Amino acid sequence: MNPFRLLLLGAPGAGKGTITKKLRSVVPNLQSIASGDLLRQEIQQKSKLGQIASKYISRGMLIPDDLIISLVTGHIGKLSKDEVARSWLLDGFPRTLHQAIALDSVLGPRGQNLTSVIELDVPESAILGRIETRYVHVPSGRIYNSSYNPPKVRGKDDVTGEPLEKRSDDNEQTIIKRLNDYNTKVKPLREYYKEKGLLTTVRGDTSDIIFPQVVEHLEKL
Ligand code: ATP
Ligand code: MG
Repeated sequence: MNPFRLLLLGAPGAGKGTITKKLRSVVPNLQSIASGDLLRQEIQQKSKLGQIASKYISRGMLIPDDLIISLVTGHIGKLSKDEVARSWLLDGFPRTLHQAIALDSVLGPRGQNLTSVIELDVPESAILGRIETRYVHVPSGRIYNSSYNPPKVRGKDDVTGEPLEKRSDDNEQTIIKRLNDYNTKVKPLREYYKEKGLLTTVRGDTSDIIFPQVVEHLEKL
């Protein structure tokens, strides 16, 4: 597989984090930057940005473009030369057209434009079923599901043994708002990447169905 620079698009709970985890098993040293994970880490560290972000996140609202653009592009800038030359992916950013344009203006001059955008298309019924039983290990972003992907010890991260948390925005009321928001905001984003010839959509109810399609696509790049 050639090195890739991938954006994973997909509704909340579509399985972007799970696909990232599965990709690690076939792409050693895969770097991933997940905007939601970065924000949850800021919140856990009680940083100024974290305090601002938590108000938006718990209401299921997007945080302002300028804040997220500087946070994520800052992290991309921290990747070493070696890391940049290998494969990396973005999860959860960009998710507005403005963010996409800002990202390109950072990557373009460095010759690091995205090589592919894959949208995970999962039926809403499947998403609603999994969100309420989802748990996260905030420092790493590792996710679990108490019904189909439980940790080895209940409530503890498999790797560190640290406690898992339920996300403040993983409840039915907020998820419906996040899904509606996603469906609106993704349309111009889809068009933008379609015009650049970067967009591929993969469909399925579960990550086990979606993952092989993602790999098949990346192998063709
Ligand atoms: P998933 O449930 O699959 O993790 P999600 O999109 O609901 O997907 P995150 O990506 O973890 O969840 O993001 C959680 C919250 O963080 C969002 O609802 C939003 O408030 C904020 N956020 C994350 N990324 C962005 C972004 N690119 N722009 C604005 N806000 C963001
Ligand atoms: Mg996620």
